[in-house]
Amino acid sequence: MKNTLVISLLLLSANAQSDLKEQLNIEIDSIMDKVVEWRHDIHEHPELGNREFRTAKKVTDHLTSLGISVETGIAYTGVVGLLTGDLPGPTIAIRADMDALPVVEKTGLSYASKVTTTYMGNEVGVMHACGHDAHVAILMGVAEFFAKNRDQVKGKIMFIFQPAEEGPPEGENGGAKMMLEEGIFDRYDPEVIFGLHVSNAPHGYVGFAPGPAMAAASAWRVTIKGVQSHGSRPWEGIDPIMASSQFINQINTIVSRRVNIVGNPAVVSVGMIEAGTRNNIIPEEAMMMGTIRTFDPDLRKEIYNDILKIAEGVETATGAKVEVEFDVGGFYPVTYNNIPLGERMKQSLIEATNGNFAEITRRTGAEDFSYFSQEIPGLYIFLGVNDPGVLEQPGNHSPYFTVNDDALDEGLKSLVYMTIDY
Ligand SMILES: [Zn+2]
Ligand SMILES: [Zn+2]
Repeated sequence: MKNTLVISLLLLSANAQSDLKEQLNIEIDSIMDKVVEWRHDIHEHPELGNREFRTAKKVTDHLTSLGISVETGIAYTGVVGLLTGDLPGPTIAIRADMDALPVVEKTGLSYASKVTTTYMGNEVGVMHACGHDAHVAILMGVAEFFAKNRDQVKGKIMFIFQPAEEGPPEGENGGAKMMLEEGIFDRYDPEVIFGLHVSNAPHGYVGFAPGPAMAAASAWRVTIKGVQSHGSRPWEGIDPIMASSQFINQINTIVSRRVNIVGNPAVVSVGMIEAGTRNNIIPEEAMMMGTIRTFDPDLRKEIYNDILKIAEGVETATGAKVEVEFDVGGFYPVTYNNIPLGERMKQSLIEATNGNFAEITRRTGAEDFSYFSQEIPGLYIFLGVNDPGVLEQPGNHSPYFTVNDDALDEGLKSLVYMTIDY
């Protein structure tokens, strides 16, 4: 008797799941029309990190119109909506990031951005070159679907619209870390979190890497102080440019000569170098910045130590003063995809995309979603948004990066199916 009851309850709940999925099939076209319209509007009006005022207002107005309870102004411009289903169940969080980048858009699209702003003292263009416009629009669509079918929703869904994923302006805090510091997980207590990123990958394909999926990222800055002299009399000074070249040569041997890279990848890059004003002046100072990417915290420490040792060596060899700073502007931990959660959700993704699912390898890019998935089990999926049949297209952060609208329904369906099945 008891078993029959359990079985019929299970059947009942399986039915509710397939009902909701069928309902999505009915509604998907009209939801996607709105998602595409929202995305184009957000794309045309991009905003940099911690300045997503218009985007946050658009999200807030939408969630409010759906009868979802909304909290605003979290970590500057962050928005959290909580949808309470009519049936009991767990709380699931889904996150979208809202910020754009200081990039001059060159896509030539009818809804391309013409926005400019001041960034680090310079006049710059602003563009959704990482596709966060798509993330916001998709999550608004997910909220609309579940809000209109609240009677079949088991549990609560927490919609996180996060500012400043690309990093806050210098001197400000921000992003996922700041939302957590402001207590969003303490207040809403979600059990798991899902996130999605669009990517220059095959159209409509969804995938994730189990376990450590994206690298830890740390920016470093090195300031080399010498003694300024005439370019014709270098012996009267200490040349910080020559010292910089030695430093750069040496740090390029860390990964190639010192790290055991078998199964444990790492990257050390120099991305910026600044020194000098004229051909015939050896300047007093040189400054460099770069990034370190790792998947293993011990290896990261090892690389920090190697850089410090190289700095000492360059000081001894050249007589210049070498000052090293790590984690400039913060640090992003490894983005970890919970393995049992991924195993559980794989089937939902296969179903949502009609089999267009692929397990992918880890990436050396970084994400501050990592802060959320450090607190609770998380799953971060990639959605391929290339034009149909195109394998290689300009990638995220390129001024030519485009998102094919017809691929977005696979992203929306993936998030909805994972939520229903969980
Ligand atoms: Zn990005
Ligand atoms: Zn991004």
